[in-house]
Amino acid sequence: MTVDRSTLWPYKDGEPGEFIYQRYGHPAGVEAERQLGELDGGHALLFSSGSGAATALVLTFLSSGDTIALAEGAYFGTGVLFRELERWGLRVVEFDQTGAPPGGVDLVWLEAPSNPFLTMPDLEAAAAHPARVVVDATAATPIYLRPIEHGADFVLHSATKYLGGHDDTLLGVVVSKRAEDAERLKEFRTRSGIVAAPDPCTFLLRGLETLEPRVRRQTESATELAKRLEGHPAVHRVRFAGIGGLLSFDVTGADEARHVETSLRLITNATSLGGVSSVLEARARWEGDRVPPGLLRLSVGLEPLEELWADLAQALEIPGDFHARK
Ligand code: PLP
Repeated sequence: MTVDRSTLWPYKDGEPGEFIYQRYGHPAGVEAERQLGELDGGHALLFSSGSGAATALVLTFLSSGDTIALAEGAYFGTGVLFRELERWGLRVVEFDQTGAPPGGVDLVWLEAPSNPFLTMPDLEAAAAHPARVVVDATAATPIYLRPIEHGADFVLHSATKYLGGHDDTLLGVVVSKRAEDAERLKEFRTRSGIVAAPDPCTFLLRGLETLEPRVRRQTESATELAKRLEGHPAVHRVRFAGIGGLLSFDVTGADEARHVETSLRLITNATSLGGVSSVLEARARWEGDRVPPGLLRLSVGLEPLEELWADLAQALEIPGDFHARK
């Protein structure tokens, strides 16, 4: 794949052409945005990361004194970001996204399914709310959910995860339902410089070629692993939304979770999700009391199912776990 890394393109006869200066746009980004717009049924814009996309969205459409209703249990970093922005007059309230959002808010922020609690939002109730609705559909992917068809105004993805798919691309995307919203967001992106570089966009284009077979296979494996984990004596609870390759399960406590993390042979003990290689971690190290101390988040990759199960089963042989359920 050839990558045009130019930061400038010569004018022709004194006139700027389609590409002018990289911060305004570049060929790999424009092509990836075309494909992402088709996948979600809207107008896509890429950003330097999922968090960069969230920052741009909030700073473009909200003002000091405005309130976001944020889904409880959504990606930890999203709440941390919004609380950082409280210094600039943003307000945040959390709510249970399986029901209707609270009144008197200016933006509703949902996550489908939430990471790492795996709840699904009530999209119909949110669409009936007067405020604009954002759905972070990172874990669902457009293969399983197209939130704009359910009344959302914006879809956000950390493209670092399933869309890129290979753990080598940090990117975010916002897909707007309305062209005029995308125009305004693009204007802010150009001014703020929260832009995606050509190389990650090229990796994203490669990832998009295999998105559908990857996530379908990951979902199949995750469905079977969730079922087997449900029946495992060391596992107290399993959370899985039935779509995508992300699930979480609880072992007794922090020591048991550490045992599982450090006993893995095939699955990588690391953060992040959505890649072709399976990854597991105890989320309490980042999220503290917000999650049970024994909560393990598993992102199921493309390894053979039986190899994944064998690895989990041997790691779940936890010595001294007297509190195991069965
Ligand atoms: N949204 C969700 C659901 C995530 O899981 C993450 C990262 O883990 C983000 C957004 C932030 O994305 P990024 O790490 O690309 O900034």
